[in-house]
Amino acid sequence: MNYGALEAGGTKMVCAIGDENGKILEQVSIPTTEPKETIDRMIDYFKDKEIEALGVACFGPVDLRKDSPTYGYITSTPKPGWANTDLLGPMVRALKVPAGFDLDVNGSLLGEVTYGASKGLTDAVYFTVGTGIGSGVMTNGKLLHGIIHPEGGHIQIKHHPKDTFGGRCPFHKDCLEGMANGPSLIDRWGKPGNELKEEPLVWEIEAYYLAQAARAVSCLLSPQRIIFGGGVMHQKGLIDEIRDDFKEMMNGYLRSPYIEDIENYITEASLNDDQGIMGCIKLAIDAAAKAK
Ligand code: ZN
Repeated sequence: MNYGALEAGGTKMVCAIGDENGKILEQVSIPTTEPKETIDRMIDYFKDKEIEALGVACFGPVDLRKDSPTYGYITSTPKPGWANTDLLGPMVRALKVPAGFDLDVNGSLLGEVTYGASKGLTDAVYFTVGTGIGSGVMTNGKLLHGIIHPEGGHIQIKHHPKDTFGGRCPFHKDCLEGMANGPSLIDRWGKPGNELKEEPLVWEIEAYYLAQAARAVSCLLSPQRIIFGGGVMHQKGLIDEIRDDFKEMMNGYLRSPYIEDIENYITEASLNDDQGIMGCIKLAIDAAAKAK
């Protein structure tokens, strides 16, 4: 059976067809231009593929409340032209299939706990560290939405003593995202992360901030695992520095076999950057099962 998967991003829309085992059968990338043109092109891609259902994981903020008149909308995004856009509605009406809808980071987490190294876990947190910083949360086997959805990129963090950068979040300046996303590296150091590979202080500071995020979710959500993905995490050794800082900050306070197994407790995404689109396939599979 064919399942449609859409990982909706601010620069590109990844559309794929997957099977019931989460295998990606084919995939295309459609640039995110203005909403109508982009949505029409996606409908065109899916319409002849005989999909059973569609799974969509989208950049936020999005409306995930099924009883809301704006369910399936992208809400207050600063991305020009996309605020208050109904993404899901036109696709469901055109394709006439059941659909699952969630936040992009929840999609990546779902991919990891369904098909990746975290398969079978029921309590996990996923951080993506790239252009933005986002968090996906699963508790008791369910993706957490709450009143909107978690926005773990905007928590407050303590500054590294050697860091004089003031932060770049348009809302909070020096929140986690404002201090540790990809663009903050450019603002602070004048170069992107991939040109700073040999600069230890860059990664010492980065790890210090991401370890604080791991500490915060450990204390608040008690997960079995914390997964870090996204472009910034491609820096070799960064995950080890996060683990070391986390251990130091925790100071032995939380005791669990999960946390003692630090290499698995704080870990990198395992699906070669396919975790997002594979999570979308799972959203579609679940939507099809629910509709039966
Ligand atoms: Zn912020």
